[in-house]
Amino acid sequence: MTWRATILTLYPEMFPGPLGVSLAGRALNEGVWSLDTVQIRDFATDRHRSVDDTPAGGGAGMVMRADVLAAAVDHVLERRPDAPLLAMSPRGAPLEQGFVRELAAGPGVSILCGRFEGIDERLFEARPIVPVSVGDYVLSGGEPAALVLLDACVRLLPGVMGAPSSGEEESFESGLLEYPHYTRPIEWEGRRIPEVLRSGDHAKIAAWRQAKAADETRLRRPDLIARHGDARRPPPSGAQREKNKDE
Ligand code: SAH
Repeated sequence: MTWRATILTLYPEMFPGPLGVSLAGRALNEGVWSLDTVQIRDFATDRHRSVDDTPAGGGAGMVMRADVLAAAVDHVLERRPDAPLLAMSPRGAPLEQGFVRELAAGPGVSILCGRFEGIDERLFEARPIVPVSVGDYVLSGGEPAALVLLDACVRLLPGVMGAPSSGEEESFESGLLEYPHYTRPIEWEGRRIPEVLRSGDHAKIAAWRQAKAADETRLRRPDLIARHGDARRPPPSGAQREKNKDE
């Protein structure tokens, strides 16, 4: 079954953009997923086809109109009642791998991309729209954020990535960052690949990787540890359990 993405945007020409090449592009051509865009401006009703107006209360910029967006949203909800409807917004819940996995396991997604200063708040009250943020910074529009979300989902679809297991050990899947990677040459600018990785001892390698993942997460992203706690860590291997006992 094809995983379907529907994008509501003022700039349909931005899609599939970078998702038209490499793994996602091939999967798109093969019909693993599909992409439709809906031009929000087609739902404007005045003769200037306006989609925005000045902010109530004053201030800089323009705000996207609830009535025009609602018409576009209703059009999509009618055709895709099964797919969750998201809106890219810096005020939404931060995008996380668990949610990405949920979306990828479903029938697809519909995404509303904002522009200007954002969207009239009443739209979020009146329609079942989930606001989602891609991080604590401000983009000029929701389109690059939608591409980020789609990329994260599409790579999880069956058959898109080479080895099915390569998604499972990655950063965030266990609430931790991933361990560091190395490849040949064995020595580069005087730096050697850690000996343990060349030992052939799979249990030792797994323990080393898990310890590294935990150390680096503590160092770089203590917020992840605070959020997920130890409960989200994979069960330690034998060697790691011994080490933890001594701590
Ligand atoms: N004035 C708003 C920013 C609007 S940016 C504020 O300060 O909150 C214009 C559009 O870009 C938004 O409507 C949203 O669709 C998109 N956008 C900007 N930053 C984003 C982010 N971090 N995550 C998701 N979408 C974002």
